[in-house]
Amino acid sequence: MEFSSKLLENAVNEMSQLPGVGKRTALRLVLHLLRQPEQQTVLLADALSKVRAEIKFCKSCHNISDKELCEICENPNRNEELICVVEDIRDVMAIENTSSFRGLYHVLGGKISPMDGVGPQDLNITSLVEKVKSGKVNELIFAMSPTMEGDTTNFYIFKQIQDYNVKTSTIARGVAAGNELEYTDEITLGRSIVDRIPFEASLKS
Ligand SMILES: [Zn+2]
Repeated sequence: MEFSSKLLENAVNEMSQLPGVGKRTALRLVLHLLRQPEQQTVLLADALSKVRAEIKFCKSCHNISDKELCEICENPNRNEELICVVEDIRDVMAIENTSSFRGLYHVLGGKISPMDGVGPQDLNITSLVEKVKSGKVNELIFAMSPTMEGDTTNFYIFKQIQDYNVKTSTIARGVAAGNELEYTDEITLGRSIVDRIPFEASLKS
C-alpha cells in the first residue's frame, strides 16, 4: 500500500495491529476519523490510553475492575460459596447478561494449551486453589469452552482440588434452543443423550 503521507501510513500501521483489522480496514477507519470532528478522535485516543493506564484487575476474581475489588465480588447479594470458573472476561459478561447466575466468578485468563505455549503457571489457577483451600467455597462450576483445551484445563484444576471438600460441576452441553435435531453435530447430540435430564426438570427452565 502506497501512502501520500507518513502520518497516515503510521496511523494505518498501528490500527492494523488490532485483531481482525487488515490494512484496508485500517485505512477505512482512519479516513473515517479524519472526516469526523477532531474532538471525536481526541475522545477515542483518550479513552484508549486511560483504559490501558488506569484499569485494574479484581484482586479476588481477576475480572476487569476500576477498583481493587470488582462490583460483582463486592456485591453482598451474591453467593460467595458458588464460584463459576471462566476463561476470560468476555465469558463473565456473557453469563452476567443471562441474569441466571448469582454466585461469583474466577477468571483464569486463558486455557491450558501446550500448542500455544500456555501452561497452568500462566493462568490464575493458584489463587483459585487457595480459595478452595480456605474452605469458603461450596461449589465450583467449570464454564470453559467445550474444546480439548477447555477440558484439559477443567481436569487440571479438578486434580488440584479434588482432595478438598468442594462440589464440582460443569455447564450443561446440549442441543441449542430452537435447533432442529438433525442439524445438531453428533458430538453435541451424543452428549445430550448421555447427559439427559428428568423431564420434570426440563419444565422448570
Ligand atoms: Zn471480582
